[in-house]
Amino acid sequence: MERRVKENKVGWLGGVIISTDDGRIVFDPVAARNMERDAHVFISHAHSDHTLAFHSGAMKYSTRETRRIYEKLRENTVRNWRPVEYERKVRVGDTEILPLNAGHMLGSAQFKVITRDHTYVYSGDINCVNTLTTEAADIPECDTLIVEATYGDPSFIFPRRERTYAKIINWALREVKAGRMPTFHVYSSGKSQEIIRLFNVYTKLPVVCAPIVGKANEAYREAGVAISFIGAETAEGRKLLRKGNCIYVTTTGSNSLVPSHASEAMATGWAVRFGSGSYASFPLSSHAGFDQLMKYVAETGAKRVYAFTGYSELFSECLRKELKIEAAPLPLLSQRSILDF
Ligand SMILES: [Zn+2]
Repeated sequence: MERRVKENKVGWLGGVIISTDDGRIVFDPVAARNMERDAHVFISHAHSDHTLAFHSGAMKYSTRETRRIYEKLRENTVRNWRPVEYERKVRVGDTEILPLNAGHMLGSAQFKVITRDHTYVYSGDINCVNTLTTEAADIPECDTLIVEATYGDPSFIFPRRERTYAKIINWALREVKAGRMPTFHVYSSGKSQEIIRLFNVYTKLPVVCAPIVGKANEAYREAGVAISFIGAETAEGRKLLRKGNCIYVTTTGSNSLVPSHASEAMATGWAVRFGSGSYASFPLSSHAGFDQLMKYVAETGAKRVYAFTGYSELFSECLRKELKIEAAPLPLLSQRSILDF
């Protein structure tokens, strides 16, 4: 009888999957079926669309910072978990997994998977430039790269970060001078702390934060990130919000505690292409822009690339045309294809 050759399988089945001789390794799963006991689950960072597995009974791996931010925001305790550190390998059988800095937010990781005859990288969400709270993503060499394509459209080229920082500060100072309160609607973890640091470092304006942002701030402080803020729920916070002369940081879509004299703003990569109505908008992204993504992929030396999220189809096409790399959107796997190898 012909012997079936085992091959590694990569794809999406409610999460990013790499099947190896040592079992299935799952990254950032969103579906319970991938969280059974035998799967090793790696969580790349603390944004809510990546942390669903923290609820599950599976063996989970993440950085300490990712777990801490999650616990603060969810008021939950994670069990059955092992910490990982940048540049320190963990083993699953004979397979080694090397976590690396992803530059996307505090504690964010990429994972390099090293098997006997192949290396893979799962990028998670990446940012390839330094910010006030993160360092640019590492660029790991690999054979096969699974890369995010959130901004994998050539129109998403972000201005230099320093320039965007300067624009945000100038806008806020103008608004304060005119008697309005600059109010930022951003993610509670990651972007919020970058905005707070920006005003801490370059201005003397106090920064008031919505309670949920304050919780994420505590995790950042525990990790040694210097941020100075006043909780909106405190007497001092309430007074500042009435009086003005401060910055207010709250979450996207939240109107809670936003005063009538607020002048509202968004800080997101989408600002390059889309306006945000009456809000001011600034192209401050926690993700790599198109040019950064192309450079990152080229420098990994990957021979095969799978793109996921965002513009995965278009980005794959650009990689094939411009870099002559074999590239395609991450394939959807069936339960059967995973078991049948
Ligand atoms: Zn993210």
